[in-house]
Amino acid sequence: MISGTRLKILMVATEAVPFAKEGGVADVIGSLPAELAKLGHEVCIFMPRYGIVDPMRWGLKPTGFVGTWQGRPASVMRTTLPGTPVVVYLLDQDEFFGRHRQIYLGLDQRDEQRRFILFCRALLDALPALGFAPDIIHLNDWQTAPCAAYLRTSYGHLLRHGAARIVYTVHNLQYQGRWDISILDEAGLDPAQVFTRSGLEFWGDVNWMKAGLMYADVVTTVSRRYAEEIQTLDYGWGLDEVLFQRHSRIFGIPNGLDWDTWNPATDSDLAVQYTAAEAPAAKVRNRTALREEFGLPDDPELPVVGIVSRLVDQKGFDLVAAVAAELGNLPLQLVVLGSGQSHYEQLFRELAARTPNVRARIGFDGALSRRIYAGADFFLMPSSFEPGGLGQLIALRYGTLPIVHATGGLADTVTDLDADPHAGNGVAFTSYAAPALLDALRRALNLYAQRDRWPGLVERAMAYDSRWSASALAYSQLYQRVLRLPLM
Ligand code: ADP
Repeated sequence: MISGTRLKILMVATEAVPFAKEGGVADVIGSLPAELAKLGHEVCIFMPRYGIVDPMRWGLKPTGFVGTWQGRPASVMRTTLPGTPVVVYLLDQDEFFGRHRQIYLGLDQRDEQRRFILFCRALLDALPALGFAPDIIHLNDWQTAPCAAYLRTSYGHLLRHGAARIVYTVHNLQYQGRWDISILDEAGLDPAQVFTRSGLEFWGDVNWMKAGLMYADVVTTVSRRYAEEIQTLDYGWGLDEVLFQRHSRIFGIPNGLDWDTWNPATDSDLAVQYTAAEAPAAKVRNRTALREEFGLPDDPELPVVGIVSRLVDQKGFDLVAAVAAELGNLPLQLVVLGSGQSHYEQLFRELAARTPNVRARIGFDGALSRRIYAGADFFLMPSSFEPGGLGQLIALRYGTLPIVHATGGLADTVTDLDADPHAGNGVAFTSYAAPALLDALRRALNLYAQRDRWPGLVERAMAYDSRWSASALAYSQLYQRVLRLPLM
């Protein structure tokens, strides 16, 4: 135990690697509990069992706990997070989870809310029967926020007169879970208690994200900058005032990266594996292989800029579209891997068809993504907003310099090399505008042209410490602190 007391922590989430993943939250829930366990805490994860979570493959065992909610029978299964002592409980309910292979069936639909309301209620009922009395109930995103409303009302006994506290993490404020007041009836929550300004009422609707923000003892987000940004009009998605009222209880704790999963020295998908010392030469060989894969000429004068991303509005591709005409004239090659909104898929298809130095692969391909992280010289991530961001951390780990819009987690992790030549690890632009992106690309090219300086920059990128251990310690300290805060 590094500091403080051993705590019982319940982590409630909708996704966790390796069982079910759609976004970055799965990486967090798959890594953070194991790190907290290393610090001496007893951690359990509670999540739904979707159809993709195979009971045989993961050795799921019945706990014996069964019940019926909203007329639907459900039970709780149990396993452990592979290679760790972390116990994972999975709610098994066929109609809402088991028969679906997808995690999310549709945003803000009534049925979607019913699924996760049932999940929350069932897990709170199960806790005493499973013999787990948590000190910290850590909720993640709107789908788990109904737990907070229950814990402040009919399930208050689980907080054991203030012996237990609620932590709520916002992974992406954009997705809030809104519906009309009728959903409260189904949830079995009394509108007189919760449908208030200081509760979950929001412009006449129920807003589960707001429930999490108002009812948690502390709120966290996945970078320090994003914790500040969401309290402003530009990034608050309408909840900025609510967040600002609670600002003394909002903390930013950066996400870490799993250094075993992302390790260029052991990555079997690469043409050449490499340590930091081997990186300058090995990256050139990986780049040659990558160019071959994409049919690009192997010109050492041109750096390769990589993009690996969901192709959605958040990720800043409207800026790339705005500089499309100039891209062909820049001495670089652009390699894109992504899928998402059809107009962005179309943008990159067209760009690749008419620009000789641009190539695009539309789809999701984990192995190819690794070859891009390894073979590229720069990694472009011009997100308009970015709560945490994994892409830039993976790029640094693979010795690839990130070019980013300085927002959220990107601002916290990437330091501009022109602003700080001695500690910088990438290129960052502050104004979200096409000329700023173009300027950043030109500055990157200028860095690449400094051939004697370049190997040192690659080495510095790889030395950036994004491991989970520091973040887990920050969560551990926050848990100890929230237990000392006055009761809400
Ligand atoms: P977000 O969670 O908003 O999508 P992050 O940067 O936090 O953004 O995480 C994105 C993760 O998904 C990274 O691991 C990235 O490599 C991966 N990824 C995104 N798109 C693809 C793709 N088309 N193929 C393979 N991996 C992808």
